[in-house]
Amino acid sequence: MKRILLLVLLAAACSKETTTPSTQTAPPPVPAYVRDPHSYARPEEARVKHLVLDLTVDFAKKQLSGTATLSIEAQPNAKELVLDTSELTIRSVKLQPGGATAQFTLGNADPILGRKLEIPITADTKSVVIDYNTAPTAHALQWLEPAMTAGKKHPFLLSQSQAINARSWVPLQDTPQVRFTYDATVRVPKELMAVMSAENPTSRNEQGVYQFRMPQPVPSYLLAIGVGDLEFRPYDTRSGVYAEIPVIEAAAREFSDTPKMIHTAEEMYGPYRWSRYDLLVLPPSFPYGGMENPRLTFLTPTVIAGDKSLVSLIAHELAHSWSGNLVTNATWNDFWLNEGFTTYFEHRIVEKLYGREYSEMLWTLGVTDLKEELATLAPNKQGLYMDLSGENPDDGPGTVYEKGALFLRLLEETAGREKWDSFLRAYFDTFAFQSMTTTRFVEYLNTALPDVVKRVNVKEWIYGSGIPANAPQPKSEAFARVEAQAKAFAEGAPAESIDMSKWSSHERVHFIQSLPNLYPEHLEALDRHFHLSESGNSEVLSAWLEKSLDSGSKSVFPAVERFLTTQGRRKFVRPIFEKLMKTDPAFAKRLYEKARPGYHPVTQATLDEIVR
Ligand SMILES: [Zn+2]
Repeated sequence: MKRILLLVLLAAACSKETTTPSTQTAPPPVPAYVRDPHSYARPEEARVKHLVLDLTVDFAKKQLSGTATLSIEAQPNAKELVLDTSELTIRSVKLQPGGATAQFTLGNADPILGRKLEIPITADTKSVVIDYNTAPTAHALQWLEPAMTAGKKHPFLLSQSQAINARSWVPLQDTPQVRFTYDATVRVPKELMAVMSAENPTSRNEQGVYQFRMPQPVPSYLLAIGVGDLEFRPYDTRSGVYAEIPVIEAAAREFSDTPKMIHTAEEMYGPYRWSRYDLLVLPPSFPYGGMENPRLTFLTPTVIAGDKSLVSLIAHELAHSWSGNLVTNATWNDFWLNEGFTTYFEHRIVEKLYGREYSEMLWTLGVTDLKEELATLAPNKQGLYMDLSGENPDDGPGTVYEKGALFLRLLEETAGREKWDSFLRAYFDTFAFQSMTTTRFVEYLNTALPDVVKRVNVKEWIYGSGIPANAPQPKSEAFARVEAQAKAFAEGAPAESIDMSKWSSHERVHFIQSLPNLYPEHLEALDRHFHLSESGNSEVLSAWLEKSLDSGSKSVFPAVERFLTTQGRRKFVRPIFEKLMKTDPAFAKRLYEKARPGYHPVTQATLDEIVR
């Protein structure tokens, strides 16, 4: 998932096809289950292997209703199957073969973990059939009124299962350590199309009944569903875009580098193993930049800038097809293994496609964001590995993205790019379709690159606070020029003396972020000249609004209101509401009341803690 970077996107290099390096020996045994503080599951006793969903989508009731059939593999002495649920109404559970009704138990509701579902099983039990429905408040699901869509005529349903929200729409073992294949039948209103993180339809059918098959095993957080008035536009035989009709043309144009990105990623780190790679452009309330649902990345429309300037987001979500979806963090404490690797990989794809100067800009923006966020965190929240027991992992710090990427860049620079790329390729091949703990990664690194490990302080990076002194320093000449202009303006040069006409949106963002705290009137002069409050580029606009609010300016309030009520991407709305709460809490509260109904439950949960 992409959520923290202020600015987007990402990188690359070289890379010839590498052969299996000598570091790779026989495939390691599948590791034992490690305790996951965010799941009740006990897969070491009985483990889900396959899921069959049969669901009806009811927009009037805001409800999914039907059955989930879970095929299991149990130890001979296993007495029960333990699942995670959140706000589900369980009508019945039947054991197969035989169809006997099981006397299941639902535990007490924990505000973060939901309720444990215990199903007694016998030595013969091969699967359980759970008849259930979701609650209208299910955390994973957002039910959009027609007015909140691009087409304005039909409703829209979208899901966000990561990190621990899958349990609010399917009863399952909601830990990234349990992978399963799945099939689904989904019934929707006839005028809408359903898509999932699976083999997808490319056109509407008359019955409104869609069949899905996902032959590659995935962890629960990669279960996804979208239902809306969708159209599909192919790029080639393995990639394309789904979007609402009013958005499809602009989306297809914006993301047309997708086939090249897939090719570039494969050249570096091995074959793309998920068959198709399609994109689903969602309504603007989607809480994240993107979500790497296998075969179908979910995307915010706020990256459609008209000039492809924010497409590094695609590189990020695509990179997850290796780091995350293929080799998966074992628990959310190991989240950096998903996001640090992916952010590094994203930067490498961008470097290879758009050049080193371009990717250095993105690295630099990432480091700016990282420093800003680290400054707000307690030292024990600044490591790559994080103990998130007792917390909602959705609210964990975003610092693991860029700090993890910097750590991998340090390893690359220490090992040399060729050797490092061979290491990564072998890592993805060796651990494909497995989960990974931080400890296991460090062991593998020690074995494969002992000389490199000796020269970097791995422990400080993974468990220590701040940015270690040996961190690589991205360098962008373009940004150095922009910084000089920002300094001149702060010291009194008029806005007219700045020539932004040839600047990329990244340079604009960096210019804004490089300005010191100025008086509101000083900033307003910039706005009069460059109309930054009206920027159509979401990254430029959010950087500008944040800078203006920091200065105490109220002249941007109309632009703030427009921005916060027309999209719900958490990365944008959270910092702005935080700043408003400091400068004008009454305005913040009024605005939140207006904006909240348009936000996804994930965003609402975050903001409810901030605006109150
Ligand atoms: Zn991500």
